[in-house]
Amino acid sequence: MPTIDLHSHSTYSDGSLSPRELVTLAHSVGVTTLALTDHDSTAGIPEAQLAAQECGLRLITGVEISVLWQHKHLLHIVALNVDINHPVLQAGLAEQAQARGRRAQQIAAKLQALGLGDCWPQVLTQVDGDVNRIGRTHFARYLMESGAVRSLQQAFDRYLGTGKPAGLLMPWVDLATALSWIHAAGGVAVLAHPMRYGLSQTKLRAALEEFKQEGGQAIEVSSANEKPHIVSQVAQLAQRFDLYASQGSDYHGRHMPWLKLGCFVPLPAHCKPVWELLT
Ligand code: AMP
Ligand code: MN
Ligand code: MN
Ligand code: MN
Repeated sequence: MPTIDLHSHSTYSDGSLSPRELVTLAHSVGVTTLALTDHDSTAGIPEAQLAAQECGLRLITGVEISVLWQHKHLLHIVALNVDINHPVLQAGLAEQAQARGRRAQQIAAKLQALGLGDCWPQVLTQVDGDVNRIGRTHFARYLMESGAVRSLQQAFDRYLGTGKPAGLLMPWVDLATALSWIHAAGGVAVLAHPMRYGLSQTKLRAALEEFKQEGGQAIEVSSANEKPHIVSQVAQLAQRFDLYASQGSDYHGRHMPWLKLGCFVPLPAHCKPVWELLT
């Protein structure tokens, strides 16, 4: 099993374990290096660092930044080894979090207007009352628990996906600006799960050109439960664009039981592992 897992979530975004619980689980399943990469937030890092110190696990500081590319495509950029106290990064993340909070209120109103009830109390309990942590996954869980849908996938397909009745296109930061925050904070930028954006090959290559031009250094070659042939395709993209390769489970806890810490296809041998940059 790979022991380096560079993509995971805690209750500071849409994961179900606290940072301490996440680190403890990682340690117990044999992960020795873990990056905590919550959506647009580093708030869980201090707790994870403390827990990691106690059990002797190497914790990489991280964050998964939501990006709107070319004004219409959602991309996720995982930042690794960032200085979480850097003011440029934190100012940027604060704006993203506020946008998240505003969107949450809009989504709740849309769901109610669709006759799906008042989700607000249930959603707030999932995020310890912090509106700015709310993501679409929290609404998807509400829809499952209230019986409106049978699975997270169905919640996104029917209501929360882009272009669906409660799926709003978000004014996330643009790619160049997101990379500038990461570089200001001394981090390494990784294009996350490149095959999950529904981009054509041409568009994906254009995104990679821009990513590379703006100083992006790595691509997530093996992510979540991606199939081996997809991993090989992304490894070829890494080679073609001369990018380092990252790997991670994208662990979210009990609501996505198909994702397991430390579980993903190993990197093909020709890849340059991104951890060479994480010194
Ligand atoms: P947000 O950042 O709030 O827009 O939410 C994005 C998150 O929603 C992703 O990181 C996934 O955890 C989750 N997600 C997106 N699409 C799906 C889907 N089709 N099925 C399950 N979860 C999804
Ligand atoms: Mn997520
Ligand atoms: Mn993602
Ligand atoms: Mn993720």
